Amino acid sequence: MAACIFCKIIKGEIPCFKLFESDKTLAFLDINPLSKGHALVIPKFHGATLTDIPDEHLSELLPVAKKLATATGAVNFNILQNNGRIAHQIVDHVHFHMIPKPNEQEGLGISWPQKETDMEALKALFEEIKPKV
Ligand code: AMP
Ligand code: ZN
Repeated sequence: MAACIFCKIIKGEIPCFKLFESDKTLAFLDINPLSKGHALVIPKFHGATLTDIPDEHLSELLPVAKKLATATGAVNFNILQNNGRIAHQIVDHVHFHMIPKPNEQEGLGISWPQKETDMEALKALFEEIKPKV
């Protein structure tokens, strides 16, 4: 897609610090890292959110994220993939973050506002979703 910044990186029109490349996948350092080694893995196929990407273009992404985690020596790390503005997505080309978490202060901070539910409500939800999976 012409205006997409990550498509421009794939085409070499914008520079990046490339960590991995194959015919379907690219990985490079994040330009505004949350921690040392913060990197992105992207499919070369353009799509804004995960559901826009065909399965065959997704299969390499987690193995490459794993390579990045190993290469950085990260023991604690997060893999993050945002979809949509209110889910904190800024660049509309699917990307997985690999974010080392070297200590409490650096890396990804997560608010995890879990709510209690009951088995009846959980079962009703299960019955709604399960037939569509
Ligand atoms: P997200 O909020 O999940 O859409 O994250 C987009 C990420 O892309 C951010 O962490 C940015 O720092 C990163 N980013 C944006 N432009 C570039 C670029 N030209 N090179 C490397 N990383 C970039
Ligand atoms: Zn793109």
